[in-house]
Amino acid sequence: MKVFKVAGIFLFIILAGLVMMGYLNLQDRHPGYNADLKIIAKHPSGLKAGFAALKITPEVPDRWVDANGDAKYNEKDGDYYIDGNNNGKFDPVWIAGFSNNKPANGVHDDLWARTMILDDGETRLAIVVVDAIGFMHDDVVDVRKMIPVEWGLNYVLIASTHVHEGPDMMGIWGKHPLESGVDSDYMKFVKEQIVNSVETAVGQMVAARLEVSEDLTGASDQVKDTRQPEVFDSGLRFIKVVNKESDEALGSLLSWGNHPETLWSRNLLVSSDFPHFFREGVEKGVFSADSLVKEGIGGVAMYINGAVGGLMCTHPTHAISDPFTGQSISEPSFEKAVAQGNKLSLLALKAMEQPQETIEEAEISILVRTIELPINNNMFRLAASLGILNRGTTGWMKMRSELAVIQIGAISFIAVPGEIYPEIVNGGVEAPAGADFGIEPVEVPSLREGMPGKYKFVLGLANDEIGYIIPKSQWDVKPPFTYGRDKAPYGEENSLGPETAPVIHAELIQMLRELNTNDHLVVEEIN
Ligand SMILES: [Zn+2]
Repeated sequence: MKVFKVAGIFLFIILAGLVMMGYLNLQDRHPGYNADLKIIAKHPSGLKAGFAALKITPEVPDRWVDANGDAKYNEKDGDYYIDGNNNGKFDPVWIAGFSNNKPANGVHDDLWARTMILDDGETRLAIVVVDAIGFMHDDVVDVRKMIPVEWGLNYVLIASTHVHEGPDMMGIWGKHPLESGVDSDYMKFVKEQIVNSVETAVGQMVAARLEVSEDLTGASDQVKDTRQPEVFDSGLRFIKVVNKESDEALGSLLSWGNHPETLWSRNLLVSSDFPHFFREGVEKGVFSADSLVKEGIGGVAMYINGAVGGLMCTHPTHAISDPFTGQSISEPSFEKAVAQGNKLSLLALKAMEQPQETIEEAEISILVRTIELPINNNMFRLAASLGILNRGTTGWMKMRSELAVIQIGAISFIAVPGEIYPEIVNGGVEAPAGADFGIEPVEVPSLREGMPGKYKFVLGLANDEIGYIIPKSQWDVKPPFTYGRDKAPYGEENSLGPETAPVIHAELIQMLRELNTNDHLVVEEIN
């Protein structure tokens, strides 16, 4: 009997410990935080801009690289072999994306925190892009709290490129599903570097003009949609920011909608994938072998992703043709990512030569709304409770996130906190037979229809990474399945739930209406 009593006490202690751990893990990291903001600008005026690029490359122990610098991947059992250890401690940089247990074997190219500051004399906006799989809202708020008010920033938007070949910054890509892949020292370093990049960019500000250009069709052959309906966000949109005095490029914003995962699942070298070669091409020029084919514009190029859900990628079955050799490359490799980067750079440099709009004077309007989203996904609930997914909750199984709409003259941005399906952005939400709710499309009209200005940039994974944002009428986990499938489509397991898209769409439409009705009419500024 005594044994049972002791066992019972032990069990009680373990259970109490688990409950306590869950309680602590789910605690709100930023109680009372609210980013709500409404700045409706009234007077177009001369713009200032500044850029910065700071490295956030992790330190990767090189002892897991073999003699050729290649990953040790075994074809036969599909596993990685690690034959070294870090003084008896196996503590690698875990690569995020695809699957667990992917220790980095080296660094192919540096990862970055890149910042653009725009200022109309009254309002100062920072757009930061980080080479990360995702940078969650709690971390965004941590960074904002580190930025001194003296830097005069009204809003700091932090997006991630969604690269699938860099360190885990979210927690779900550790050695196994029950172990976080996040290194807290590295996260601290990334946050400090973001702050440093904002400070540097503020210090670089000079009078500037914006040159806007688009190529809405040129890159559409480089993306595959792996889930019906086939809707893309494959238009390329560019803002070249030029020093007004010297005519030199300060930097550029390169916007496209595609997963940076061309290198796919077996690469174990840290890299920012095709965005690296895209940025390099735009800055330094495009080279065929060693000869310069097209001159770059200089400055700091920033790649920012668009609507990548549902699922936009350069799949291993999707070939990229090398722009110089004409060779068709399907197999994931750096060669493929280089070819893609070169193609994108050539399109960008060509489009930028003849800007469709030059903005000398403009006003910056910003609307920001803090939202709460229900966590209906049981795996996300578990991951958050166990502290694997490192983010707090607000109330019972809800998480705080954020939406923003921004207008700068003829340019508008919407900031979406995850991977939105392109049909919500560009139109084409369907109500296929077999869908779980049997309802008409909810997320209509399309977001782009509601956006003001001529040039409409959709910024994905902005200020958060909440996973897939799936049209409710296409939600499909129960049989019968949509589009004649014999099993459930891929996607829902990486979404907070079926209410995510309706909430985000309705809020954004409402915010866009507010911006449109107030646009240049109402004299109002609320902080
Ligand atoms: Zn993704």
